[in-house]
Amino acid sequence: MRYQNTYVKLDTRLYHEQPPTPLDNPRAGHFNTQVAEQLGWTEDKDLMTRWVEILGGQYVPAEFKPLAMAYSGHQFGQWAGQLGDGRGLLMAQVIDSKNQPHDLHLKGAGLTPYSRMGDGRAVLRSTIREYLCGHALTQLGIPSSNALGFVVSDTRVRRERIEVGAALMRVADSHIRLGHVEWIASFAPDVLSEFTDYMIDTYYPECRDSENPVPAFLTAVVERTARMIADWQLIGFAHGVMNTDNLSITGSTLDFGPFGFMERFNPAWINNHSDHTGRYSYQNQPAIGHWNLNVWLPHFMRLEGVTRDTLADCLSPYEATFMQHYQQGLCRKLGLPHGSQSLTLAFEWLTLLEDNLLDYTNSFRALLGLVSPNDHPYEQTLLVTMTNELSIDAQQVWQDWSTRYIAQVQQLTIDQAIHDMQTHNPVYILRNSMAQRAITAAEQGQFEEVNRVFELLADPYRLQDIAIDLDSTPPLPDAPQMPISCSS
Ligand code: AMP
Ligand code: MG
Repeated sequence: MRYQNTYVKLDTRLYHEQPPTPLDNPRAGHFNTQVAEQLGWTEDKDLMTRWVEILGGQYVPAEFKPLAMAYSGHQFGQWAGQLGDGRGLLMAQVIDSKNQPHDLHLKGAGLTPYSRMGDGRAVLRSTIREYLCGHALTQLGIPSSNALGFVVSDTRVRRERIEVGAALMRVADSHIRLGHVEWIASFAPDVLSEFTDYMIDTYYPECRDSENPVPAFLTAVVERTARMIADWQLIGFAHGVMNTDNLSITGSTLDFGPFGFMERFNPAWINNHSDHTGRYSYQNQPAIGHWNLNVWLPHFMRLEGVTRDTLADCLSPYEATFMQHYQQGLCRKLGLPHGSQSLTLAFEWLTLLEDNLLDYTNSFRALLGLVSPNDHPYEQTLLVTMTNELSIDAQQVWQDWSTRYIAQVQQLTIDQAIHDMQTHNPVYILRNSMAQRAITAAEQGQFEEVNRVFELLADPYRLQDIAIDLDSTPPLPDAPQMPISCSS
């Protein structure tokens, strides 16, 4: 691997250097060979043979520079003061063969000066959820952290019950959160300028070419965040806990704990059981992204030449960027040209899904069974299932809508429409029930189910034989929601 380890060269107030605390008897959970190859991990024999020890915190390769980062954040809308890596360590920073930066971050690595009341550990349950979700989002084509692998151990961790301790080697382009800048503004304002230069040089080098690199950088963060959230809305992803300490400055999905993928379509859906007010409901995500950036940006007024007006200009593209990306994506999901007629149809379609509590993923995919039935027998069965779930009144709405829809599809060539639909509507998502079955088996020492779900999600846009062994069907419309909490 090509090591960079630049963070450790920054002002020492920003982090605490320390090794992980070993887990008791770590054992392999899963290893992501594709990520390992991308990092160059596979080329190093020592890393390959000792990966379980490394993830278990028992062995730290000489080139690693483990440290806990300091950061702050707004949690559920409230200023939370100092947070920081309370149970994770930045282990190393590397550059891949395409010169892209990656942080290796060990989550569940034990106590740090930022642990506050926590025990520094992560449980197997949340580790598997994060592992499968990073993989799912990445393979769906959404910017996200992923992971090299995870280990399970004999360390016992107390949550609502006693659980198994685990550790995940998270891989993300960056682990700098919006909350890093919030921490600096409160606790070390004199390093803001140096830190801003670091963020630009490391993650936004193209902004150096601009006449005003800082506003160019801030605008780029705003735009990337807007695009990421549009991607979430399109695929039906709910992050669950969009606090400013859980949003990356690179517009890449990070720290999804109580996340979920939309099943029966309900825009007001709250996946996080601990989110009593629904602040982070699916439909609030675009507004929360804006809210987070709005509390983040004013800190940069400390920098010379950055005024309130500059920052307003940086934030202003948020809404247009989101709308453009979301609307374009919605049209592609339907195989329609981008335009107002298509959008009218798209919003009518979403209302049909909502009114009939139809499965978001399967219903979009089912439209291929309408547009191109002969080549899509699986999608035809989805279409039958979907229409059978419609009420008598809704049948009429569907008839009317589908006639107008088919006419609008003709605006594109059929090949283009089919291609857009196939590449924007997954066959498989990570349903809460699938993750839960994998967790239940893993807690009994069986990792085959994790493996099967992993395989399935490796190619989410294509129908796969392995699905026969897995139940990827949606819950019944009246099934109670599976409680997913912040506890992890
Ligand atoms: P999260 O909800 O995982 O995004 O974490 C929010 C903050 O709490 C971060 O500063 C974490 O490092 C910290 N934290 C969460 N769980 C633990 C734990 N078990 N031990 C120590 N710190 C934790
Ligand atoms: Mg977090």
